[in-house]
Amino acid sequence: MYDVIIIGAGPAGLTAAIYTSRRNLKTIVLTKDLGGQVIKTPYIENYPGFKKIEGFKLIKNMEEQVKDLGVEIKYEEVVKIIPKEKTFVVETRERKYESRTVILAFGKTPRSLNVPGEKEFSGKGISYCATCDAPLFRDKIVAVIGGGNSALDATLLLSSLAKKVYLVHRRDEFRAFESLVEEAKRKKNVEFVLSHVVEEFKGDDILRSMILKNVKTGERKEIKVDGVFIEIGSEVKTDFIKGLVKLDKNNHIIVNNNCETSRPGIFAAGDVTNTPFKQIVVAAGEGAKAGLNAYNYLHGIKAEIIIDWAKKMGK
Ligand code: NAP
Repeated sequence: MYDVIIIGAGPAGLTAAIYTSRRNLKTIVLTKDLGGQVIKTPYIENYPGFKKIEGFKLIKNMEEQVKDLGVEIKYEEVVKIIPKEKTFVVETRERKYESRTVILAFGKTPRSLNVPGEKEFSGKGISYCATCDAPLFRDKIVAVIGGGNSALDATLLLSSLAKKVYLVHRRDEFRAFESLVEEAKRKKNVEFVLSHVVEEFKGDDILRSMILKNVKTGERKEIKVDGVFIEIGSEVKTDFIKGLVKLDKNNHIIVNNNCETSRPGIFAAGDVTNTPFKQIVVAAGEGAKAGLNAYNYLHGIKAEIIIDWAKKMGK
């Protein structure tokens, strides 16, 4: 029997583990992978205490801190959470665990384009992680799909390794920071392919090309590529907790200011929640709150709910 089962090992889950273990709560972390979105981020320049740090390094530091505190991290995918009278049974593909509280901190999963050939060539030329796979494409022709900061980060990283980088975006305007877009424009080996969407990926044993459609003219063209990086954001995959806790229309877990979900004993933190600002420092802060509130819950300490000003003022 655990006091706390934390699902997810990104900044929210690992920070929660630091706080619960330091309060002597018997804690285990169950996760599919380490680091979630952060491990895919080449450099982080807005996490206090570090002017610039690799995402991988930041997460490894957190993991080491958690392990030094004696917390077990098990790489098992959670498939079900069954509420019992005063506990929760957490089922992974391998076994069952039981705990008095649960902290949901499993973050987001990379979004897919859902076009023909994407599944077939995934891992055979198609990647969802530039930080992990960019070195495989040294001197090759690659494309990055997307128009957000992740796509621009991937483009800049790849421009220093690959022979040529196509940046394919479905609009003319970018969601990414202006500074990143400008930096990419200055790279000689980066070609912007705007207002285009991918219709299909083609190849034999490996990816060879992709069919692009101009969304304004309807014209199609085939571009030869050795690699494609799909960087179109991420989504919350909450299928395994449907009906357990309340979700908003975007599938985020609804929490109050104490990281409490709609079900007593289950807390949530980080990108899986409806808390705005999907930032590492925010996720870590929310993880600390979730951990401390799990402690309060287990010790019968009532947490204060912050006032809803609109209701209070009769608006
Ligand atoms: P994002 O900001 O949601 O951007 C996703 C991009 O992919 C958008 O340009 C979107 O196009 C495009 N897209 C979405 N679905 C698509 C589809 N089906 N087909 C084609 N294009 C599609 O995601 P992100 O870039 O992964 O960033 C996520 C968060 O992390 C953001 O808050 C971002 O600022 C942050 N982040 C920050 C940094 C940094 O500070 N350097 C680095 C990485 C990420 P539309 O624009 O047309 O919607």
